[in-house]
Amino acid sequence: MFENLQDKLNKAIKTLKGQGRITEINVAATIKEVRRALTDADVNYKVAKEITDRIREKALDRKVLISVEPGQLFVKIVQEELTELMGGEAQGINIKGDPAIILIAGLQGSGKTTFSGKLASYLKKQGRGVQLIAADIYRPAAIDQLKVLGEQVGVEVYAEPENKNAVEIAQNGIALARKTGKKIVIVDTAGRLAVDEAMMQEIEALKRAISPSETLFVVDSMTGQDAVNTAKTFNERLNFDGVVLTKLDGDARGGAALSIKTVVNKPIKFISTGEKMEALDVFYPDRMASRILGMGDVISLVERAQQAFDEDEAKRINAKMRKNQFDFDDFLSQLQQIKKMGNVKDLLGMIPGMGKMIKDLDIDNDSFKPIEAIISSMTPKERSRPDIIDGSRKKRIAAGSGTNITQVNNLLKQFDEMRKMMKKMNTMQASGKMNKMMR
Ligand code: GDP
Repeated sequence: MFENLQDKLNKAIKTLKGQGRITEINVAATIKEVRRALTDADVNYKVAKEITDRIREKALDRKVLISVEPGQLFVKIVQEELTELMGGEAQGINIKGDPAIILIAGLQGSGKTTFSGKLASYLKKQGRGVQLIAADIYRPAAIDQLKVLGEQVGVEVYAEPENKNAVEIAQNGIALARKTGKKIVIVDTAGRLAVDEAMMQEIEALKRAISPSETLFVVDSMTGQDAVNTAKTFNERLNFDGVVLTKLDGDARGGAALSIKTVVNKPIKFISTGEKMEALDVFYPDRMASRILGMGDVISLVERAQQAFDEDEAKRINAKMRKNQFDFDDFLSQLQQIKKMGNVKDLLGMIPGMGKMIKDLDIDNDSFKPIEAIISSMTPKERSRPDIIDGSRKKRIAAGSGTNITQVNNLLKQFDEMRKMMKKMNTMQASGKMNKMMR
């Protein structure tokens, strides 16, 4: 996410950061570089100029030149300005009415249906009763897609595949939600490949008929300035409440995220960073600004972990660790929990300084595949007692999992070391040495 922008901004700031003494001349040069980094990231030129002018003004005003750590202070100013550019404070969604109605609009392929499923799951996890409504009357596949997602996240999907009247479908779905006591309905609508008048009229009519308390506009961030322009057009007709930026996982530049608020004057409320249901984050401008500047975003990382965390499973595994019974099945279960948190590279990028280090590394969730395949090729007995795996079984496991004997050996060795470490920690804990070591 935003790799190119991160790279260029950091290069621009680096020279300043390392220097004890800074002159007005190299501040000017840095600001020029920052502006170029922004325009290269497809940020609207006017927006880039405005923000860099403000950065210069603040930098001179706050006496960056004579401060103790001029570089740090400069970074802080850039961080504040980026935060402001992306909307300042985080904005929640309006949930009002019985039921509260959330209308989802956007072009086809922007990620509307995926987001509808994610939002349903997100709200359900907060303990709210949610109902999804499939009001895409043009693509029968979209109804099925929403049904699959609904099933996955445990939220009911209301659909009328034969009905070609989106207003009617939405109204019937809302009536059902009222009857069954669901507090929130999410209405997924039809999109088109490009903005067209018929679509605009349809979505306007739908909004008028159901009066949502929140209308969210979903847009693919990878389309950069096009995303900003589409948002502007939709907003003029629909006066939506907030933007959902999708596919940030594939967006190296970040132009849409940085320009939308200024150009459209509507806040970004959610960001989507993958196809999985968990890859959804509330948008916090300050955290995003820190992330863009390579300062990480540990808070979001912890929040993701909490969402994916299965308490019972954690307790079970912890008990097994204490009894030195941690086995490959437990290992596999842990791996799955991590994967549930989303894309691994994206997660690592939330750790300060890590984004830059791993940017050229080829890691994704598929990197776990060989490990999972090896474990799956073991017998249940071998998974709990890997020490019984002999040479010929190793060969079979390698063949069965499509890996090689070195990979099998490595995994077994690492697992053995992990177990030894757990054992050591258990004995230390028992003898009270753990506290000493922790201190
Ligand atoms: P809709 O036509 O607007 O309903 O779009 P869909 O929800 O069907 O999404 C279009 C495609 O984009 C699907 O293949 C989704 O899996 C994918 N998609 C949606 N959101 C994201 C995202 O945040 N990241 C990535 N990488 N893919 C996404």
